[in-house]
This record gives sequence, C-alpha cells and structure tokens, in this order.
Amino acid sequence: MAKIFCVANQKGGVGKTTTTVNLAAGLAKIGQRVLMIDLDPQGNATMGSGVDKRKLALTVYDVLIESATIAEACVKSEKLIAAGCGYDVLGANRELAGAEVELVQLERREKRLKLALAVVDNDYDFVLIDCPPSLSMLTLNGLCSAHGVVVPMQCEYFALEGLTDLVNTIKQVHANLNKDLQIIGLLRMMFDPRITLQQQVSDQLKEHFAEKVFNTVIPRNVRLAEAPSYGLPGVVFDPASKGAQAFVTFAEEMVERIKGM
Ligand code: ADP
Ligand code: MG
Repeated sequence: MAKIFCVANQKGGVGKTTTTVNLAAGLAKIGQRVLMIDLDPQGNATMGSGVDKRKLALTVYDVLIESATIAEACVKSEKLIAAGCGYDVLGANRELAGAEVELVQLERREKRLKLALAVVDNDYDFVLIDCPPSLSMLTLNGLCSAHGVVVPMQCEYFALEGLTDLVNTIKQVHANLNKDLQIIGLLRMMFDPRITLQQQVSDQLKEHFAEKVFNTVIPRNVRLAEAPSYGLPGVVFDPASKGAQAFVTFAEEMVERIKGM
C-alpha cells in the first residue's frame, strides 16, 4: 500500500517544490517506488523532474476531471531513470488553473484525486504531492488524498505565525474530510546555522512541535537552486553537493518515520 504525502505550505518560495522533487529522487535512489504528483499550475515540479510541461498530452487536470486515469496520464523521465533515481510523474501545466473553477461545479469535488489514487495503491511505496501556495480546492484535493503532510519552512521571523493557518486547515480537514490526515513533520529548509535568528526560530519550533520537527535540516545550497534549470532534482544534478546529500538523508528519515504508520 502506498503512503501518500502532501508537501504543503500556503506560503510561496519556502521550498515545497524543491522538497518534493528531491525527496522523490532521494526515495527512488534508496529503492522506493515513487509517484510524484504536481498539483501546482506553474508546473515547476514537472519541469524540475525533467518532463516538459508544454508537451504533455495528459496531466493531473485530466485525472481530476475524470477523463484519464493516473496510469494513463503519468510519464517517466528518461534522464532520472538513467541516473538511477527514476520516479513516475503526474505532471501539471497552466491548464490546471481552470480546474479550480470547474471542480466547484462537480460532485465529490474534493475527493477526485483520492479516488484516482485508490486504483494505483499497489504500484508505489510513496506518492508525493507538490501543492500550490494556497489553501485552494487543489490543495484540498491533495489533503483529502493524503496520510500526512510534510511542511517545508524557512526559519524566519513570521514563520510560526504562518504555520497556525496551515495547522488549523489540517485540523479541519482531519475533522471533516480525512481522518487519516496528520502532520508528518516540519522540514527546516534553506537553513544557515550562522544566522542567529534562524537558530532561535529553529529552537522555538522544537519547543512547540517537539518530535514533529524532522531531524534532517536542508542547508541553503546553490546547487539545489541551479538544478531546476537543467530539468533535474539536485539529488541527480550534483549528488555530491551538501543539499543533495541532505535530501538522501531526509529520504532515509522519511522511510524510518513512517514505519508502523
Ligand atoms: P515553493 O515551491 O515553496 O514556492 P521552491 O521550491 O520553488 O519553493 O523554492 C523557491 C526558490 O528557492 C527556488 O528558486 C529554489 O531553487 C530555491 N531553493 C529552494 N531550496 C533551496 C535551498 N535549500 N538552497 C538554495 N536555494 C533553494
Ligand atoms: Mg512550488
């Protein structure tokens, strides 16, 4: 049975997409079968996995409106397979922006992705969903499908405040729509230990959220930022870089953390 995780934070630029593609590649590298779903119309996770969003015949949009199955719409990236980090990609492009409006008129609108995923449950160990920077109908489809949420965040001044909204949304979805849903963990992203404020916020996070804070910390690393322009996750683009190594360690921590879940 696949374990399904949303990578979510309604704030933009905190590292959701970077986390999704590098965790996917890291998990694939350690032998897990992974499906990556891009739920953001920007399609960055699609492009960052070596799949050209402009050339996709079918996307997650077709799955949401039930005109295609996941098996029909997902693609493989040859570049990632060649690097030994292959995972399946259910891509997105601008077409997905329309789904927001269309879904509102449809039945079971928040459960569409969950129903589609039920069919491929045995084909994967992990499904990772890259959510858009909003608490929209798309994000809601992600949250209704998932066993848990991975929350990447930067250790900045307003970080804790922003978390309150997300935590409340997750609680509401848990209470009303998906009783499986839980926060798997908070991932400290783009961390620089030399910055005192980041240390302080990191300490506060551990005080408030205790073991929900992942042990692995992802450092600020330019190779992770360069990789998308080559259509690759950092884990594939420069496996020796500090950022790539941190993501492989994070993949191992995820495998450990979900044991018994
Ligand atoms: P989101 O999906 O939350 O909007 P992204 O993953 O697109 O965030 O990251 C925002 C920007 O920060 C991107 O340009 C990305 O390359 C860069 N970035 C993300 N993580 C790191 C990191 N650990 N070190 C350096 N740059 C990073
Ligand atoms: Mg993103």
